Amino acid sequence: MKSSRVSHELLIKGRHCIFDYSAQSDARDRAQNLLVYFDEKVPLLFSYLQLELPQIPISIYFTKDKMTFSSYENMKITYSVKNSINDLGCLIHEAVHLAQGYKSYFSNADIKFLAEGMADYCRIKFSNDRWDNPDERNPFPYRGFCGYGCSKCGAEFFVFLEEIVGNSDFIVHLNKLLKTDNTKYNDIVNGFFHKDLHELIGEFIEYKDKRT
Ligand SMILES: [Zn+2]
Repeated sequence: MKSSRVSHELLIKGRHCIFDYSAQSDARDRAQNLLVYFDEKVPLLFSYLQLELPQIPISIYFTKDKMTFSSYENMKITYSVKNSINDLGCLIHEAVHLAQGYKSYFSNADIKFLAEGMADYCRIKFSNDRWDNPDERNPFPYRGFCGYGCSKCGAEFFVFLEEIVGNSDFIVHLNKLLKTDNTKYNDIVNGFFHKDLHELIGEFIEYKDKRT
């Protein structure tokens, strides 16, 4: 009886998420603080991506391991708490991966670049209000393109695209397509920009290089 009571006390539930800090019993305040912000960002994020809210709350499990990842199948984020101003942004990044649930993420470099870029783009969009972030005042440092593995460059690529068309509708379409089809993303890109993805990445690299 006692053990179930203890584990119950190591969970904090919001409307859209559950924080499980049973592996870090001293992290209650951190969980409580993050819940206040994260719980109100979840519906905003899903509505921005024009998706239904998940049928089950997102569970955030604080791990002692230095690793963070999300699992779409059970709407779970395994999270290594940083106890820094970046925690909310990191959780939003992971929540975007839950909203993505792409099947071919690991096998396709284009999709990985788009997925990580979109996650960091939304992170910047949804974590800056009421969340002062002195560590990352400028998420887009003035430097050249770091490569396909850089999610900040990916996020800046999304901003670059948004400025071309003047809105972010392409993100909603791209995300919905990539959930089920890993082959036709250039159709969406072409429809909005009349160019394919690699042409646009080439232009983006040129733009970044010129600025440095
Ligand atoms: Zn990521």
